[in-house]
Amino acid sequence: MSAGDVPNTAAERREALKRVYAEAHACTLCPELASTRKNVVFGSGNADADLMFIGEAPGASEDEQGVPFVGQAGKLLEKLLGEVGLQRSDVFIANTLKCRPPGNRDPLPLEIENCRSYLYRQVELIQPKVICTLGNFATKLLRDDKTGITRLHGQAELLEVGCRVVRLFPIFHPAAALYTPRMLQTLREDFLQLPDLLAMPSPEQPEWLDPPEPAPEQTSAGSGAGPEGVAEEAVSATEAEPDQLGLF
Ligand code: SF4
Repeated sequence: MSAGDVPNTAAERREALKRVYAEAHACTLCPELASTRKNVVFGSGNADADLMFIGEAPGASEDEQGVPFVGQAGKLLEKLLGEVGLQRSDVFIANTLKCRPPGNRDPLPLEIENCRSYLYRQVELIQPKVICTLGNFATKLLRDDKTGITRLHGQAELLEVGCRVVRLFPIFHPAAALYTPRMLQTLREDFLQLPDLLAMPSPEQPEWLDPPEPAPEQTSAGSGAGPEGVAEEAVSATEAEPDQLGLF
């Protein structure tokens, strides 16, 4: 998808996001993840959100329920959102990787590359003004730089993500702040900047941005489904399971 292919209205973008969800739902690009996951954790929330959170990868509870940030870290995220006048249904929450790595191992470089297109298309269709990366992993990945979250948290910068320019605002991962009061205080202070960031106009979108690489074709062993088979499954998944999207 290039910038010129993105639908105009919020309703059209939401429908397009459902199609991306359905495609991810049937995705087998990472054979190990596809064979061990219980659910594809696509992301959930407002399909027209100004604020998007991006974490690393689903954990056991997320894999079980198919929804990101459902445990204690999710509760803390909701509490901090509430403190700045927002609720979960106002934002969209996703991960860089849509399937749980077995045993919570680190995602492999190829898995990250395989899944990058889904994340980029989410950003292109949701069109957030602000993206909060949660913790080191997502921050380093989106910035394509090794600088860690301790140095970067709480500082907004303009960044190209796929075909969009967004305000990137890295913050500590809520899971890291759960048992460390000092980190929680820092996270809370960073959250307090969010209303001002969201009140700013959307970053200007330059015409010259290169479109992202298209998703690789699904050729992994075991799926038996080429691109056509995936498309058919994707359509039926959309029709059969619209509520699983968790889109408000
Ligand atoms: S590319 Fe993403 S959705 Fe597809 S199998 Fe890999 S992690 Fe899952």
